[in-house]
Parts: sequence; C-alpha cells; structure tokens
Amino acid sequence: MADVIYSSTRGADLKVKASEAVLRGLAPDGGLFVPDHIPHLDKTLKEISQMNYQQTAYEVMKLLLTDYTEEELKYCIEHAYDSKFDTDEIAPLTEAGGAYYLELYHGRTIAFKDMALSILPYLMTTAAKKNNVKNEIVILTATSGDTGKAALAGFADVPGTRIIVFYPKHGVSPIQEKQMVTQQGDNTCVIGIEGNFDDAQTGVKKLFTDDNLAAEMDKAGFQFSSANSINIGRLVPQIVYYVYAYTRLLAGGRIADGDAINVVVPTGNFGNILAAYYAKKMGLPIGKLICASNSNKVLYDFFQTGSYDRNRDFVLTSSPSMDILISSNLERLIYHIAGDDAGADAKYMQNLAQTGKYDITDEMKAKLVDFYGGFASEDETKEAIKSLYDSTGYVIDTHTAVASHVYNQYKKDTNDNTVTVIASTASPFKFTRAVLGAIDKAEAEDDFELADQLAAKAGLEIPEAVSSIRNAPVRHDTVVEVADMEKAVKNFLNM
Ligand SMILES: *Cc1c(COP(=O)(O)O)cnc(C)c1O
Repeated sequence: MADVIYSSTRGADLKVKASEAVLRGLAPDGGLFVPDHIPHLDKTLKEISQMNYQQTAYEVMKLLLTDYTEEELKYCIEHAYDSKFDTDEIAPLTEAGGAYYLELYHGRTIAFKDMALSILPYLMTTAAKKNNVKNEIVILTATSGDTGKAALAGFADVPGTRIIVFYPKHGVSPIQEKQMVTQQGDNTCVIGIEGNFDDAQTGVKKLFTDDNLAAEMDKAGFQFSSANSINIGRLVPQIVYYVYAYTRLLAGGRIADGDAINVVVPTGNFGNILAAYYAKKMGLPIGKLICASNSNKVLYDFFQTGSYDRNRDFVLTSSPSMDILISSNLERLIYHIAGDDAGADAKYMQNLAQTGKYDITDEMKAKLVDFYGGFASEDETKEAIKSLYDSTGYVIDTHTAVASHVYNQYKKDTNDNTVTVIASTASPFKFTRAVLGAIDKAEAEDDFELADQLAAKAGLEIPEAVSSIRNAPVRHDTVVEVADMEKAVKNFLNM
C-alpha cells in the first residue's frame, strides 16, 4: 500500500513522512500537515468489533502513520493506553437521555486531551529515533489550564524528553493550578508568568522562532517541539475512539453492520470533530457531524453562512476549553473542501490574519452538507446538565452539556432519530463549581469540598486526579516576568 505523505495546508512543496510531521508539529510556512490521501479501513467493522481499544488503535493508526513499523506503533499504543486509564475500556459508552455518551475522560487529567497526549510522547520519541535526532526533545507549551496539565502528565518521566509549561499566574482556576504545580517528574518544569494567556502564548512563539536560541540549544543537545493540538500526532489518535464507539454499538447489538450513526462534538479548536470527519473518510458509517459551540459561536455562524468571522467579542463561559475565536484545525477542513488546494487555503488564512475573516465559495459550502452547527447559551448549558441529571441521575460536565443541548435542538429541528454518540470531553469533577451550581447549588468556597458534595450527589467516587492533588506538595513555585521566559528555560536546561 502507498505510504501516506504529509504536506502543508499552505504549500505543496514540502513533503514529509508521518514521523517527521509529528516531530515538526507545524509546517515551516505556518500551515498544518495534511495527509495526501485518507486510506479506507482494511478490516471490516465486524472484525474490529471483536478487538479491544489498543487493537482498534493499531488498526486505525497504522493506516495514517505508515512509516512507523508495526512493532513501533504497538509499543506506543501499549505504553499510552494502560493502567493510567481508570477503566480497561479506555473510552466507555454510557447511554443516557436517548444518546450514547462516549466518555473520553478516564485518563490521568480527566479530560479528553489525555486521549492524544498519553500517546504523543511515545510517537514523538519514536519519531526522533527514526529520524536520527540525537538531541533531547524539549516540549514548550503555553496553557490556559487544561492542555498544560495533560501534556505534563503525558511527558513526565518519558526518557529523552523535557517539558516546560508556562501558565498565567493569575489566570487559571485553583484546581487547575494545583494540578500543575504538584506535577511529579524530574523532566517537568512549570512556570507562572506575570501576564495573561496571550502573553504566555506570544512569549512561547518567540522562543520557538528564535534562531540564535535554537543554535545554542542544539549545541547543548536540545531541540524544541510542540504538543499543541495541530500536531498530527494528536489528531490521528483521536480518530480511534470514533471507530471504537461505532464497533462497541455494533458488538452490543445497538446498531446493525453498516447503519449510520450521528456524532455530536463540543468544539473549540476543531480538532476532535475533525478526527470524526477523518473517521468518516476512512469508511466509518457516520451520518451527521454535529458541531456544538458555546456562546463563542464562530463555527455555528460559519456553517450557517460560509463566512468565518472572528471580529466579535470574546465571551468567557462555563466551558472555558471552548472559548476560542480562531479554531486552528478548521484550516485542515478548508484545505480539503477546497479540493486539497494549498494555494486557496493560503489565501483564506492570509485574509484571516489580515482582516479576521474569510468567505468560502458556494462550491466549498456544498461540501459541508454532513456538518450541522449548533450552539448553547450559558443558561441552556446549565439546563442541559440539570435536566439530564433530574431525568437519569447521569452527571455531565459543562462542555459535554453544550453538546447535549445542541443534540436535543438538532432532534427537534430535523426529527432525525439516528443512533447518536455524544463526545463527553471532561469529567464533571473538573468543573465542579459550575456543574454543582447547575444541578443544585455550589456554596462552599473550597473546590475540594465541592467535589465531596458532587460525589455524594452523583453517587460517584472522586477521581484520583482530584483526590491525589488535594494534599500533594507543591513542586513548582517559580513565577517570572514575561521578559524573563527565555532565562527561565535556560535555567531549567542548565544552559
Ligand atoms: C479542548 C477541549 C474541547 C475542545 O476540543 P477541540 O478539539 O479543541 O475542538 C472541548 N472540551 C474539553 C473539556 C476540552 O478540554
């Protein structure tokens, strides 16, 4: 079978193998790596329905990461999806309120980013070996809360890597901060900055593109890489759980072989739903891809009008991981619906950079028929948590609640009763205050006390990710000015 080759969404010249795309993260022209073709699953859905999560992961990932050997890929998968997940199923399905919730939050940081960030370190160190990289890989990340912890947990104690996370000292929740500053692992470094998330992000980008620093690092035996959500090493592992969900429904007799299912995805950067789109391209019978936004409804407007316009107020919501006005991964969809046309994509992205907006053609818009956009207001999000809890006892987090609301709206709108999978992207214990506030009231000041109350109410145990940090010692207490970020990096690397 032909190797899958990756090129940039913005230029056709550079062609790299999967492992090199994983190492680089982003193409040098600022574009995202995209596959030159998307292979069809080469096992039947019936066959896959007999496999466990790890075996399913291999069947999907081998088709897109073609330059990894079977042995390499299986090594990565087995080290990623093991006992750090609190269930052997890895991504269990729970039926509630007429839909199937695909729980993607059973990993170490109880949010769906674990699904990809548990395997990325292995994909990356394997790629480094394959490409004769001798340097240690230094992951540099700016975080507004969730990604930082998931990346820390993924890279902690992985040989050949170091990870440095910058977060806004006064801009994350108490539990989020506690999760990060208690991180174990001698190769981890967590630094608060006196600035907001944008300052952290801009500072990190500057370090990434500083040629002098890169040369100094190389001399000292280091090179930077990125763990953010545009890396194909994060995208490909996310295709797996859609195939897994479908084949579980098949194995359980909930659908017949070949039946279409709909999927609903609470969306921010467009990575998770893009993975579902790729799953469909690989032959998974998916009907509608339902894209759920919170009040930052740029994507809803885009699917309505074909016009992407970020010129609007940024709204802080109770689903902060979806508070995004530039959905980076949408660029891959734009590239594909333009007919894999890098020139066209580059123009749209230039418009976006210069004016904050772009309009796609009618021909491109016609290729979006499989997508349905919806959104939930803050009140609707709360109501979705409450009504599902009241009618079934099942507790969902605020992000999943956005999807739940949009699903109900979709059904009302279309009378489509296709079996539906809702991506459940975080444990309710990650957003305890908002969740408890929705189903009852959240009065305690201490977030851990709220977790106790939620556990009692929902009849659930507090996840290890929360209980283990309750009394954990702080290991990282460095806070620096934005101007001193480079110094902090060098300090950690003893340069
Ligand atoms: C990151 C995140 C999302 C958004 O996922 P995208 O792939 O960026 O669209 C939704 N919910 C939670 C809890 C997240 O952490």
